[in-house]
Amino acid sequence: MSPSPARVFAALNAVRPPDEASPVIGRAIVIGGSVAGLLAARVLSDHAASVVIIDRDDVQVSGERPGVPQGTQLHALLPGGLLHLEHLFPGFREQALAQGAIEAPPAARRTYLDGRLKVVVPDDADSLAGSRPLLEGLIRQRVLRLPNVKTVTARATGLVFDGAATVGVRCDVGGVHGVESGDFVVDAMGRSSRLSDWLERAGWDRPVMRRMTVHLNYATALFRRRETNPEFPVVMALHTPAASSDVAGAAYFAVEGGRWMAMMAGYGENRPGSTAEDFVRRLRDQFPPEFGEVAGNEMLGEVQTYRHADSRRRDFHALPRFPAGLVSVGDAVASFNPVYGQGMTSAALHAACLSMYLRSKPDLGVPARRFFALQKVVVDAAWSTSTSADLALPHVPGPYPRGYRFSSWVSRQIVTATVTDVTIARRFNEVVSMRAHPRSLATPGVILGALRANRAVRR
Ligand SMILES: Cc1cc2nc3c(=O)[nH]c(=O)nc-3n(C[C@H](O)[C@H](O)[C@H](O)COP(=O)(O)OP(=O)(O)OC[C@H]3O[C@@H](n4cnc5c(N)ncnc54)[C@H](O)[C@@H]3O)c2cc1C
Repeated sequence: MSPSPARVFAALNAVRPPDEASPVIGRAIVIGGSVAGLLAARVLSDHAASVVIIDRDDVQVSGERPGVPQGTQLHALLPGGLLHLEHLFPGFREQALAQGAIEAPPAARRTYLDGRLKVVVPDDADSLAGSRPLLEGLIRQRVLRLPNVKTVTARATGLVFDGAATVGVRCDVGGVHGVESGDFVVDAMGRSSRLSDWLERAGWDRPVMRRMTVHLNYATALFRRRETNPEFPVVMALHTPAASSDVAGAAYFAVEGGRWMAMMAGYGENRPGSTAEDFVRRLRDQFPPEFGEVAGNEMLGEVQTYRHADSRRRDFHALPRFPAGLVSVGDAVASFNPVYGQGMTSAALHAACLSMYLRSKPDLGVPARRFFALQKVVVDAAWSTSTSADLALPHVPGPYPRGYRFSSWVSRQIVTATVTDVTIARRFNEVVSMRAHPRSLATPGVILGALRANRAVRR
């Protein structure tokens, strides 16, 4: 009998790098040097003689870059993701703090739900607050320090196959075409990955792509921060669809460089905060007073906006034919509504799937089905958390899974109970921070506990 998804998920969260490198691959190539590609390269460095990361941006240069247009938006590193980063790069947390990231233990994180402060503080995992370029830059520094990893600045344009085996990547460097040869290729090209087109062009099937339209409008702005060690470096305020507001939520984090990074989001035609004036006014008028205090500081630069059309997943695991020596990771496989902050942590879990797969000494002459089966567990978990919340939004047209009405009623009970019940809040946080599988909430203990807590509040 195969283990349950919850057990697989727990095993992936327990994955650690091997004590000793044991190469089963000659030369591995990773296309995309962002978070997912870098984490895959870190894992491959234990299992390949050499690893090449190809990116169209010069990833040696730190800071914002065109290949990652979402990089200017607020990025939350979930506690689950931080745990993986610490396993892959021992001392990551200390290094991040030394470079300006801000510690965000549970007691330093505040959450409001429809204007009500969550009064319970579950004693769960720590996190860090920092900008996306800082986090990606730290990961990159650690990966590029590995002696068997190098980068190539080029645009990948296709794959090279020898029969059913992947043997290289076609590249374009300023109009000059070449091939990087390798015996294992990782697609980490992000949500607009061209892998499906390349497969089809070479006579393979493209994976089915499932989408859930969300039409999310993000806006992020930086403000000067006077406090060196603010009491609450991470503050979030969420509005459920029941709350009559055109802003779905706002958050502000203390980030490096003595700055606050604040974001707000709206759905459909609601584009809150698209001008500096509107951004500041809404933080003052539509959110708890501390949001207004942050907005009272000097705004640094302009409001950066970003439109995110849909959550999408590509079902590689379901393809009956697939080349050997090829996998896909990160947003290239599944990218979610970003308000749930799952992207970087999912990428870390995909890296754990790769580690578990390669450690099993697989036959690399056949498709990496075991890898895709492990990854499906991670994608299903993140997909169910984000899409079940999105289906509650009035403008999201579906598709609704079977039993949705009952499961959404249960979810609402649990979310409501997180405001007042510490046990439910802890179990819920384990799931939303991707340290536990969503099915761990579907127990009589959690559901009855939530009903009891909500009844006590009503009384
Ligand atoms: C508005 C917004 C907010 C978000 N907030 C959060 C958050 O709070 N927390 C969180 O964890 N995640 C968040 N995410 C998701 C997060 O950004 C991604 O999940 C994360 O960057 C991992 O993505 P990735 O590495 O798979 O792809 P990407 O980061 O998109 O990187 C893809 C890389 O591939 C390269 N590339 C693409 N095509 C080619 C090619 N043909 N040749 C060579 N190189 C190529 C690009 O240059 C880039 O470096 C957010 C996303 C958005 C849009």
